[in-house]
Amino acid sequence: MSPMPKTLGELRRSQWTEEKFAARTVRSELRENLIRKMEEGAPLFPGVHGYDDTVVPQIVNAILSRHHFILLGLRGQAKSRILRGLMTFLDPQVPVIEACEIHDNPYHPLCRACRERVASHGDSTPIAWLSRDHRYVEKLATPDVTIADMIGDVDPIKAARGGHHLSDELTIHYGLLPRANRGIFAINELPDLAGKIQVGLFNIMQEGDVQIKGYPVRLALDVLLVFTANPEDYTARGKIITPLKDRIGSEIRTHYPSSIQEGMSITAQESWTERDSKRRVHVPGYIREIVEEVAFQAREDKRVDRRSGVSQRLPISTLENVLSSAEQRAIRSRDSTVVARVSDVYAAIPSMTGKFELEYEGEMKGADSIARELIRAAVGKTFSRYFADVNFQPVVQWFELGGELKVPAHASSSDLLAQLKKIQGLIEHLETLGIRQKDDAAVQSSAAEFILEGLWAHKRINRSEERGYFAEARKQPEPREPREPSGRPPRRQFN
Ligand SMILES: [Zn+2]
Repeated sequence: MSPMPKTLGELRRSQWTEEKFAARTVRSELRENLIRKMEEGAPLFPGVHGYDDTVVPQIVNAILSRHHFILLGLRGQAKSRILRGLMTFLDPQVPVIEACEIHDNPYHPLCRACRERVASHGDSTPIAWLSRDHRYVEKLATPDVTIADMIGDVDPIKAARGGHHLSDELTIHYGLLPRANRGIFAINELPDLAGKIQVGLFNIMQEGDVQIKGYPVRLALDVLLVFTANPEDYTARGKIITPLKDRIGSEIRTHYPSSIQEGMSITAQESWTERDSKRRVHVPGYIREIVEEVAFQAREDKRVDRRSGVSQRLPISTLENVLSSAEQRAIRSRDSTVVARVSDVYAAIPSMTGKFELEYEGEMKGADSIARELIRAAVGKTFSRYFADVNFQPVVQWFELGGELKVPAHASSSDLLAQLKKIQGLIEHLETLGIRQKDDAAVQSSAAEFILEGLWAHKRINRSEERGYFAEARKQPEPREPREPSGRPPRRQFN
């Protein structure tokens, strides 16, 4: 590779010819590089799962159309990740006029300072190189963002010093958007932006003209504008000025994972589970499913505010906390191997309650109780997936005949397993989960606890803080549940 050109003259004689690059906009650059990637069969958004047939094709269309676009979705739907991923469709480096605040294209400088430099220095005008990660600017919209922040301000001191008129471009102190020139500018939560800033954005997109403190300023910026918004905020009347909406080429809706498996792969990718510990901590598949199912349950629950959604960060941080709870038990009980249990999911409630907003009815119950109910429902659903055809009547009967089991919070796996083995007909069902009698006590006791929790979730047995697991109060037998045709066996005494 020959060294990168350092002057405008060298640039002209290099592969970055004036013919090829003078008029090449950011949006054409993205388009070209996207097409090349697709022709090579390269992955377009590595690390983004579940969008291959829905969101990604729409983004591809938007880029091919050279559109500014907006992602509409609830929180935790990988919107920011996608927008940052757009960076990979930029050239590795682009030439700019050295020291220009707005990264002027050497062949086509916008700012007056650069135009004057090129006029006086010609081919010896110095060139600098800008890498991809310096070409992406992100801003969270809030109502207090000003025109000065976003677009710029006239600086009277600069004007006085240079002897310029106030509306002279040389007196402008550039805001974020001009500084994103020749790159991608992402604005998160667009509806939170004040109306007059939206007007400013629109003017830039439309004409390249904008007014700063009443002075007309010409800024024909070369930038891809991308936005995110909550769909309801975006469609609410009066939140977005119509001409701006009109200039956004595509509205693309994101979504939560459509299946538990998809959710689990996102959670597995994003959570910190490979820990630098001398203890071996294992999280069984059914626990991962329960954690994911909690998020699915929460997204469906009427008591949880659907407008704000339930972020994928809920299962991610819950899984991390489940692991930590198991790790804590290992340290306290001096076990070298530890396997996460359903009780660890309950212990992870502090990483759930901040991740959903409650409706009035939910508020009355409190986030903690709602979280408990969500876990219980998630356990029930996961249990049904594994044990649909299994008859647990003998286990239920053991409790009905007076059996009780209390699991101390930090019981070691072998102590717990010894207790669980006393429950008739329980351990043999671990085979359904692929677990054998010779497997580690931690593996067996976690699985057995899952079964008891599943039975409790389906109201076949009872559980309380004080007593642990015990029989469900006798009611009319529920017709859905298979009963032994021979009726109840003779009563036996257990201790
Ligand atoms: Zn410049």
